[in-house]
Amino acid sequence: MSNENCVFCKILAGEIPSAKVYEDDKMIVFKDIEPKAKVHLLAVPREHFKLLSELSESRAMVLAHMLRRIPDIAAQNGCKDGYRLVINQGDDAGQTVPHLHIHILGGESLPW
Ligand code: 5GP
Ligand code: ZN
Repeated sequence: MSNENCVFCKILAGEIPSAKVYEDDKMIVFKDIEPKAKVHLLAVPREHFKLLSELSESRAMVLAHMLRRIPDIAAQNGCKDGYRLVINQGDDAGQTVPHLHIHILGGESLPW
């Protein structure tokens, strides 16, 4: 179920443009609009939900699929010597988009 106020649901629906690098029936991967590293991608499941605490069996399968695809997607997009995955959860983490997403950061030696 999509959320009409969610920017990632709008990207998934094609209502907001994005620099897409990968998509399949379960997820989309596009460039972050404000990159925090030389390579900064966002991997987003097609279904709208915010938190890992909301994972059902089928959502967990989607997440597993995403994690299995990410190594190739990262390598194909300039992460030659590794990358970092970040999943911000809730306010203390500074989660600004309430649609679960995996940050893929790399393309350089990361500062922390
Ligand atoms: P969060 O802080 O929720 O973990 O990360 C949200 C990320 O989404 C931020 O890094 C932000 O730059 C990115 N973002 C927000 N709006 C857009 C958008 O419209 N397009 C793209 N490509 N990225 C966005
Ligand atoms: Zn959404």
